[in-house]
Formats: sequence, structure tokens, C-alpha cells
Amino acid sequence: MTPLPRILVWNEYRHETQHPEVAAVYPDGIHQALARPLAAAGFPVRTATLDQPEHGLSEAALAGTDVLIWWGHMAHDEVQDEIAARVQQRVLAGMGLVVLHSGHFSKPFKRLMGTSCDLKWREADERERIWVLAPGHPIAAGLGEYFELPREEMYGEFFDIPAPDELVFMSWFQGGEVFRSGCCYTRGAGRIFYFRPGHETYPTYYDANVQRVIANAARWAAPAGPARLSFGHRPIPIEPIGAGQEV
Ligand code: ZN
Repeated sequence: MTPLPRILVWNEYRHETQHPEVAAVYPDGIHQALARPLAAAGFPVRTATLDQPEHGLSEAALAGTDVLIWWGHMAHDEVQDEIAARVQQRVLAGMGLVVLHSGHFSKPFKRLMGTSCDLKWREADERERIWVLAPGHPIAAGLGEYFELPREEMYGEFFDIPAPDELVFMSWFQGGEVFRSGCCYTRGAGRIFYFRPGHETYPTYYDANVQRVIANAARWAAPAGPARLSFGHRPIPIEPIGAGQEV
């Protein structure tokens, strides 16, 4: 059996240290709430946060990561451009990236998408119903036709992203908006999954279905094998040109 991918959970870890209402929900930080169920499922998991040296995303840390999970919101601008570019390069070389909720505006995600990644939003304690649009997709494994979160922030279309390669989930909100909430991409040799839920004031990352989706996404985004990308001039052909034309 293929070993489970090595996961690095990255969290900016600012709301939890500055806002008591968020600390009440995630006393050890969103990164720990994300890491614990993954570790319990057997994944090798580490965590990193914005205020660590190099944001915890050194060349060595990324070299030892198969799938990076990203949560950020209030401090996207504090992520150094050089480190955002490093994450982007690692994805192009094959590292998986799972971007959660407000990570839609993170530097690595915007670099990889090439669009504004903007959307509509509202904080009004709405029910979110997350419909499975691709029941055979590995990221939807083990889910029903839909699942619900009793209270979440609303994200609404139009979501300014490139058309996903595969759309796994669509969210409906009580106020009437809908949103593409589970989007798959490949960029270079890397796989990217954007998953919408996870506003910091709600206990979303304790939800069993949400935890299942994140674990499924980590498995799906894992590199299929060592990336061996090579480019450039090839003056010597693989076989003599014209040789195959002789009868
Ligand atoms: Zn939010």
C-alpha cells in the first residue's frame, strides 16, 4: 500500500491569538484542529504558522511535504512574496495544495489561479448545504448526497476562479446564494483542491464530514510519484528521424 502523504498544515494563527471569540472555538489554533483528525487517521502531520521563521515554510520543510493545507485570512499580505513563490514552485513540481475557506485570497492560491479569486460574502449564521456533484470522485468518498453545516459564513457566486478541472461540491446558503465549494485543479505536476467551509468563528473543522473531505483531499492531492519534469532543447532525437517510415 502506498504510504499516506506527509502533510504540513499551515495557519496564519492570528484570529485565535487576537480575538477571544475565535480562541473560544479553536483554543489551540485552527492548525491543531485540522492536524489532530489527520494524525488520528494515520497521516504524518506537522504544523507551521506565519510568525515562525520563513513562516515555517523553509525549503527543507517544503521538501519534506507531500500535501500542504493552507488556512489564512487577516494577514495574507504578511506572507513574503518570496515564500509564496516558493510554495507555488513546489506545487508546480508536484506538491499537493489544499486551500481552505478564506485562503481563496492567499498569495499562493492567487498566483496559481491567475485570477482575482474574489467572491461575495456575508456573516449571518446561515445554514450551508453542501451538495456532492461528483459522487464517484475520491474527495467525495464516504459522503451522502449532501451534508449540512448549521451555521457558516456565506460565500456567493460569482467566484472569480478559472473553471475547475473537476467540481466536487456546490454549496447552497439559507439566504439564497450558491457557491462552487469544492474545486480541483492541476498546475504543472501538482494537484490543488479548494474547499470552502471554515470561517474562524464557527466549529466547522470539528465536523466529521468536513474532516472526511479534508482527509480525502489530502489523499487525492498527494503526488502520484516523484516528479521528473524536464524541458528545453533536444538536439538528439529518441530514435533516428524517418527510421519508422521504412517498409
Ligand atoms: Zn470567513
